[in-house]
Amino acid sequence: MSINGVFDCIVIGAGVQGSFAAYQLAKKNKKTLLLEQFVLPHTRGSSHGQTRIIRKAYEQDFYTRMMEECYELWAQLEREAGVELYRKTGLLVMGPEKSENYQLFKNTLQKNKVPTVILTRDNFSKHIPNVNLAEGHGALVDESAGVLYADRALKTVQGLFQKLGGVIRDKEEVTEIKPGPFVTVSTSAHVYRAKSVVITAGPWANRLLVQTGLQLPLEVIKINVCYWKEKVPGSYNLKRHFPGFLLTESEESKEHVYGLPSNEYPGMMKICLHTGSKTDPDKRDQQTDRSDIDILQRCVTRTFPGLLPEPAVVETCMYTLTPDRHFVLDYHPTYSNIVIGAGFSGHGFKFGPLIGKLLCELILGEVPSHDLSPFQIRRFQANTKSSL
Ligand SMILES: Cc1cc2nc3c(=O)[nH]c(=O)nc-3n(C[C@H](O)[C@H](O)[C@H](O)COP(=O)(O)OP(=O)(O)OC[C@H]3O[C@@H](n4cnc5c(N)ncnc54)[C@H](O)[C@@H]3O)c2cc1C
Repeated sequence: MSINGVFDCIVIGAGVQGSFAAYQLAKKNKKTLLLEQFVLPHTRGSSHGQTRIIRKAYEQDFYTRMMEECYELWAQLEREAGVELYRKTGLLVMGPEKSENYQLFKNTLQKNKVPTVILTRDNFSKHIPNVNLAEGHGALVDESAGVLYADRALKTVQGLFQKLGGVIRDKEEVTEIKPGPFVTVSTSAHVYRAKSVVITAGPWANRLLVQTGLQLPLEVIKINVCYWKEKVPGSYNLKRHFPGFLLTESEESKEHVYGLPSNEYPGMMKICLHTGSKTDPDKRDQQTDRSDIDILQRCVTRTFPGLLPEPAVVETCMYTLTPDRHFVLDYHPTYSNIVIGAGFSGHGFKFGPLIGKLLCELILGEVPSHDLSPFQIRRFQANTKSSL
């Protein structure tokens, strides 16, 4: 197969979703090309960094149900590659006990029989040292939750894809997509043709989709990824099985605050606010708003007395938000050989193996193995611009 030849499928964007889609296609013996604009690995999209939270705790039932299969797929990948990608730590969920959000988390876990420990105010500090539970807040632990080793996962799945004969071309920005029975994809270096295309371009999705006459209501925001130093090293350590946490809302913000035990930077815990300021993905470093960090400082001071209330390291990542914060997993409304995976709204990493499988099923015209109605493009209707 020549590199400029015809592929069964071209996947555009080698973040977590594109990499898993390409891997699934190669597993089905499809000649697949994975295109990436930057040199791999890179830190300019949404999938970089060492860790992500994996959890079944969700407000919506359908995500919890999808997670059942995700855990299996992550474990399969670990076995296939012989690497550790997941570490069980549990996830502490806290929030105003009577609030709708907190109750939704609790009910979804209970309804789906996810092993969960409900903590009372009396036994909270025995189970979770060094954390202050706010007045009126409830607390529970989703026991199966943990940490995914994100960078390692990407490297692993891309490696397996190549082992299966898949081709990765990085440092090749896709500059043009010409739909048709064979889709022509031009990059900064070559012109390729394929029977089908998967667009998984993360924050750049709309920039590519506009060439196919489609614009989705996506908003790209910059997330300040903050690391907070432990006063006593080891107090919130992954090795000591300190859980990740999710605060559904706080005195400081209606948005979630979430965090992971200290791991990538020894003695520092990662804690972020689940929102940020609007940005252009190519100009994110020029977005210097730090109001999220002010909120976090107050929240950390109140909740984590064992941390210095000033971030020691601040890195950057991006979310691509849909209005309802649910993903886009669908066919292009005009071209059935173009499939879109977009708008992962800051919670898509843990679903990577399943999203790859679902995008592959769509491309192959198979019946998707999960109900994709929450992820269809038609739900936006008035907000979706299709000029074709
Ligand atoms: C701070 C932070 C914390 C998070 N925490 C969690 C968590 O704990 N748990 C969880 O499940 N999820 C989490 N997420 C969300 C998760 O990481 C994202 O949903 C996921 O990484 C999105 O992957 P993606 O493949 O859609 O996008 P990306 O990783 O951005 O990949 C898109 C790729 O497409 C490439 N591309 C774009 N345009 C072109 C082009 N024209 N030509 C070629 N290539 C192109 C880009 O360079 C990029 O590599 C977090 C996200 C952030 C930012």
